[in-house]
Amino acid sequence: MNHEAWLEQADIYALGVLDGDELTTFEAHLAAGCPECERHIVTTREALTLLPHSLELVAPPPTVKARLLTQVAAETATPQPVTLLPGRWWGRTAVGALAAAGLLLVFGVKLYQTRQEVQHLQRQVAALRATLTEQEGVLLAERHELQRAAEMVASLQAELAKREGTVEAERRERERVERVVATLQGELGEHKAALRLLSIPQASLVRLAALSPSPGASARLLWNPLARTGVLFTSGLPQIPRDRVYELWAIAGNEPVPAGIFEVDSAGDAFLRLPPLPGPKRFDKFAVTLEPAGGLPKPTGPMHLLGSL
Ligand SMILES: [Zn+2]
Repeated sequence: MNHEAWLEQADIYALGVLDGDELTTFEAHLAAGCPECERHIVTTREALTLLPHSLELVAPPPTVKARLLTQVAAETATPQPVTLLPGRWWGRTAVGALAAAGLLLVFGVKLYQTRQEVQHLQRQVAALRATLTEQEGVLLAERHELQRAAEMVASLQAELAKREGTVEAERRERERVERVVATLQGELGEHKAALRLLSIPQASLVRLAALSPSPGASARLLWNPLARTGVLFTSGLPQIPRDRVYELWAIAGNEPVPAGIFEVDSAGDAFLRLPPLPGPKRFDKFAVTLEPAGGLPKPTGPMHLLGSL
């Protein structure tokens, strides 16, 4: 018996299916001391044990693998009648079939695991896709909300601009009214001053009569000789160009003293509060002439009104 035959026996022995005389003979070979067969048995058992449980492809020792594949191929190609099979053949077939089954199991487990991983990844992809779709929905909703908010802001801005326009118009109207009130208050102040002039016993009322340049005009002057001041009311004086003013004169004898300049409103009316005039001479006449804008120290233009105290 060459040693290759012993190694075949070792394969069968490793599977625990060696029996009868073959078992006795092989055990005697081992008992005689064969390290090669002992290693072979250990290696074969390890390979057969590890193959189905390993997650990685564990390559069986080359000799075992080659032998197994050869046997499987040969026995598949040329099946032998069962009646001619001795126990050894059965053992060899069992070794080959089990090893092949082990390899198939490894591939099967590997394939199953890969399939599991693929399915797991597919589930993850599906979950991610669902999340993405959901987030897209949220994003779209937020975009709509944002657009709605922007439209609302634009609408509010338009409303605000309209109200600001209204507020601006109201502000202008209020300012106009305030100016009118200020004017009226000023006039009221002047009229009160006139009333105070009237209220003292020494106050005199001077009527100024119209002269030829303005026949429809008239004026009244309230004169306070103690304070040497007064107020003048005119009516019916003609409109004058911008570079002209009316000037009032207080006259003592033949000496006229400037007593203020004034313009008339659209009705030809005017009100003038006289400044305190210098003394000590007693004024006996008052007159109104037309002078260049700003007035002059002595009269130069035509006289429109004249009255005596
Ligand atoms: Zn041996």
